[in-house]
Amino acid sequence: MTRVFSGVKPTGHLTLGNYLGAVRQWAEVDQHRSDALFCVVDLHALTMEHDPARVRRLSRQAATLLLASGLDPEQCVVFVQSHVDEHARLSYLMECTASDGEMRRMIQYKEKTAQARERGESVRLSLLTYPALMAADILAYGTDEVPVGDDQTQHVELARDLAVRFNQRYGQTFVVPRATRPTVAARVMDLQDPTGKMGKSLASGPGIVYLLDDADVVRKKVMRAVTDAASDVVYDREKSPGVANLLEILSACTGKEPGELAAQYSGYGALKRDVADAVVELLRPVQERHAELAADPGHVESVLRAGAERARGLARPTVDAAYAAIGL
Ligand code: ADP
Repeated sequence: MTRVFSGVKPTGHLTLGNYLGAVRQWAEVDQHRSDALFCVVDLHALTMEHDPARVRRLSRQAATLLLASGLDPEQCVVFVQSHVDEHARLSYLMECTASDGEMRRMIQYKEKTAQARERGESVRLSLLTYPALMAADILAYGTDEVPVGDDQTQHVELARDLAVRFNQRYGQTFVVPRATRPTVAARVMDLQDPTGKMGKSLASGPGIVYLLDDADVVRKKVMRAVTDAASDVVYDREKSPGVANLLEILSACTGKEPGELAAQYSGYGALKRDVADAVVELLRPVQERHAELAADPGHVESVLRAGAERARGLARPTVDAAYAAIGL
């Protein structure tokens, strides 16, 4: 059976981008058709300035939201990365397989380094080596497919390269993974700045819809979304990125093509109202289930404990084999 692995970083509250670009597909498709593991990758949250209590709280919230989004512990493994030592163990071997040049070429490293410098913060070494840890996350489980949004495909490509290189140097050890992407909403953009992605790690929130936003907050954010000077509703990512983003969000909610949807509107007001309604309806069941689960933290705790146990059992043989192959 196909092995699937993917994760979310607890660097902020989960967004509509995380949900449409990744989590929804994990819940609706991946967990049913494959042998899947989904992980809150908390070690990755330490690559930038962080507050320990906040990381712990957001990890728990992210895990709760994964379950609320429909990940079923009977169907897949849900766990927290730092509970399974194999990730950090294998990460070091990945650092010994990668070159610093290929790490420095990563777009996210360049972007996040620039942002950190703008804020006057020093850049942690772990920001550079982040893709080695991500490769370890993926390769430890013999992963075939990694369902991710567009922003992560470069890192999955690197994991592929490292798997191939390691296998060539030290003998067949890793399955070579590939990235898969959702057909729509692989890149949900910020409602206030539709040239940038809707990312939870960003401090500013007015263009970001969070999964736990109240209905009136969602409506306000959508109604204030940046559109264009022209008033025609056309689907054109280049010339009209704000409108295209709204159409893609509506498309992801309704299953209709963005171009087909564009033809139904003559003004932005009606489009925004429909987008807001669709997003509110999309999030309602997730929020209801989240409230139930959050009221029973012992349950979430036990799901994560059992998940870590299963994950450890799956990862250990591969990581042990990698240590043996590299000469340790
Ligand atoms: P973030 O950038 O929000 O911190 P993560 O690194 O935790 O996101 O990514 C979790 C998953 O959500 C990944 O598969 C990523 O590709 C996807 N994702 C994140 N932001 C978006 C977005 N704006 N549109 C589509 N997918 C996204």
